[in-house]
Amino acid sequence: MKHILCLTAFIAAALLNPAFAQDTGRIPSKGLAVFEAGGKFAPFAFTRHAVGDNDIRIEILYAGICHSDLHHVRQEWGEEEYPMVPGHEIAGRVVQVGKAVTKFKIGDYAGVGCMINSCGTCEFCKRNQEQYCRSVVMTYHGHDQFHDKELTQGGYSDNLVVSAAFAIKIPANAQIEKVAPLLCAGITTYSPLHYVGIKKGDKVGVAGFGGLGSMAVQYAVKLGAEVTVFDITEEKRADAFKLGAVRYVNVNQADELKDLNNTLDFILSTIPAKYDPALYLKMLKLDGQMAIVGLPAVTNMPTLSVMALVMQGNRKVFGSQIGGIKETQEMLDYSVANGIYPQVEIIKAEGDAVDQAYRNVLEGKVKFRYVIDMHTLK
Ligand code: NDP
Repeated sequence: MKHILCLTAFIAAALLNPAFAQDTGRIPSKGLAVFEAGGKFAPFAFTRHAVGDNDIRIEILYAGICHSDLHHVRQEWGEEEYPMVPGHEIAGRVVQVGKAVTKFKIGDYAGVGCMINSCGTCEFCKRNQEQYCRSVVMTYHGHDQFHDKELTQGGYSDNLVVSAAFAIKIPANAQIEKVAPLLCAGITTYSPLHYVGIKKGDKVGVAGFGGLGSMAVQYAVKLGAEVTVFDITEEKRADAFKLGAVRYVNVNQADELKDLNNTLDFILSTIPAKYDPALYLKMLKLDGQMAIVGLPAVTNMPTLSVMALVMQGNRKVFGSQIGGIKETQEMLDYSVANGIYPQVEIIKAEGDAVDQAYRNVLEGKVKFRYVIDMHTLK
């Protein structure tokens, strides 16, 4: 037992030692990590695996703070491993390319979302829905099956090594400081709207008007839909209209919910807290559909009764997870071409600043996405 502990300590020390990193090609890296569930952010030094023939290395410029990061950091979806460097909304510049890579050259902008690799052979990968691959490698909190199952670390850091196939090309004319959230908030809302084929004149509801919701409104408006926004605050009413919504409903005001039953063709729920999905189901027209992307803590999980489903029959409710790589590239090109970006607040890559941003997200004080300027990381 003593020998195993010594060996483990030796390997850990070696992996963190820059000299060892040079010998093995591992990349010395630094980031902001939490060291326990719900802990505070502090600097963390670690190494990333070497750049393989099909990989690229990205110098991270900006990293978005998604509510999913809060769920992970606070261990709200199940057991996690620490230290954890979160971050799956990443925009940066390519600084190294593997020998076999033709998709990128040094100096290009590149983005990374929630995944950095997958098996490439299963039915989901073949259908460009890698997010459902059973061997998908998540950008952080994942175990990389292609690299000895090492724990992955995310984008609140100075660099990232990723399979080029999982990096998204960012057009050179993009507003780069606003791009990172597109890699998760963007694709997660773009994908279900296109999956159901939203078209001009459709009546669309967006429940939860935060990082994801604000993107959903923009995509739905661009498709010509009449958008109703649902949230729990008065603070965002004017913002909804500014983004093109035709109605804003504060669900805490009962009178605002009157006359909405059987009026909407599609509802996208991004709500990250407990709520009653049946409230929204009742608002769907016959043949209407509701996609759920918001994923609250397991201890706070909403439920939908079979009774509600049967009584409001011939409407469909389904879940949706981010989007595949091909669709993410399509979303990014579309967003940049149409000037669709999140409204962002840029913060410094300092522990206190990220801690404060997390508190603000929980208290509903962010409009609409915090983005960390990774160049300010010390
Ligand atoms: P935000 O915190 O930015 O936005 C959530 C919004 O929902 C806030 O405006 C919040 O209001 C509002 N809200 C909270 N409770 C209610 C309620 N009962 N009814 C209506 N609105 C409510 O979160 P994100 O947009 O970043 O993420 C939303 C969820 O989506 C998270 O659970 C996240 O994990 C999940 N997600 C899922 C993905 C997927 O692939 N399916 C991908 C990415 C994220 P207030 O601010 O006032 O509290």
